[in-house]
Amino acid sequence: MSPADHATSSELRSGLQIEFRDVTKRYPGQDRPAILDLSLTVPAGSICCLVGPSGGGKTTAMKMVNRLIEITSGDILIGDKSVRKTNVTALRRDIGYVIQQVGLFPHMTVGGNIGVVPTLLGWSKERIRNRADELLDLVRLDRALAKRYPGQLSGGQQQRIGLARALAVDPPVMLMDEPFGALDPITRSAVQDEFLRLQSQIRKTVIFVTHDIDEAIKMGDRIAVLREGGVLAQYGTAEELLASPADDYVADFVGADRGLKRLSLRRMRDLVPDGAAARPAEQPRGAGRSIPDGAPTVSAEETLRVGLSVLFATGAPVLGITERDGSPLCSVTLDELREAVTASPASNR
Ligand code: ADP
Ligand code: MG
Repeated sequence: MSPADHATSSELRSGLQIEFRDVTKRYPGQDRPAILDLSLTVPAGSICCLVGPSGGGKTTAMKMVNRLIEITSGDILIGDKSVRKTNVTALRRDIGYVIQQVGLFPHMTVGGNIGVVPTLLGWSKERIRNRADELLDLVRLDRALAKRYPGQLSGGQQQRIGLARALAVDPPVMLMDEPFGALDPITRSAVQDEFLRLQSQIRKTVIFVTHDIDEAIKMGDRIAVLREGGVLAQYGTAEELLASPADDYVADFVGADRGLKRLSLRRMRDLVPDGAAARPAEQPRGAGRSIPDGAPTVSAEETLRVGLSVLFATGAPVLGITERDGSPLCSVTLDELREAVTASPASNR
């Protein structure tokens, strides 16, 4: 199979591991490095969020992966290949790139925009059209949009097209720099959900830059917190960062409400004992009791944070958990909810 034959839905290229090895970046004329001795490994098929203060080196770290910025010392490996030893054109072809400003060409149709890299690779018109249709399906936009111009789309639609374009030749690696930062909160949340759904199908290795810790908690399988001067403060899962921040800086960065944020990592379903739905009504104590008359309820798909909020808002002593269709599962108390969070760490995606 030649490289140009990639990108049919039957032969998706899943992600490759990315490894930063003692990477340092010094810009000419700057007295301190933008990134200092960064070492971390992003497992294949996972999302790594880079967070930190403005000027902390997030964009610099990301752009060294596709060599939009050259590494001063150290190396980055994609799979087992050094980016420093890979031809830049070939390297970038295998790395999808999504930025906040989207950067669609305004004078080209959506279909034309999605087809930019495939055209460079010499794909036939028909193949490019088919791929554009496939990608529009993937990002859940109407295929008819292929004929429109970017200016005729909403911000959220443009960002989805930006994603589709980045995925056009099915790269194993995606770099995303504050990709949803310019969207209003509701659109942003929808596009985040959309990307997570997409990622569960395509399993790329993603480096996702954001300054927003909540976005990092939502999107990242792992989170790298950078501090001023481009130094890695902590690298771990959201649960690890929230449950045991490495130092005061990280604790501060994840927020004094990190206990509440941990609640967002878990679903009410985690508190439902096996077979709860089939359980007869009399089960006197402990999680798994039936739902008392008049108790407030939440769906098992909601987070513990939502459950807690409902308990607080209603002042009720117990909270019922139901299936999405409202059929009852069991009930929990405030104490049980708290124990569930402090006792066992959340499983990671
Ligand atoms: P972030 O994305 O976290 O906001 P950047 O990676 O853009 O941070 O910048 C990190 C540091 O490097 C900042 O101090 C910034 O001023 C500096 N910097 C970024 N790009 C350049 C450049 N081309 N030349 C000199 N300094 C730069
Ligand atoms: Mg930046």
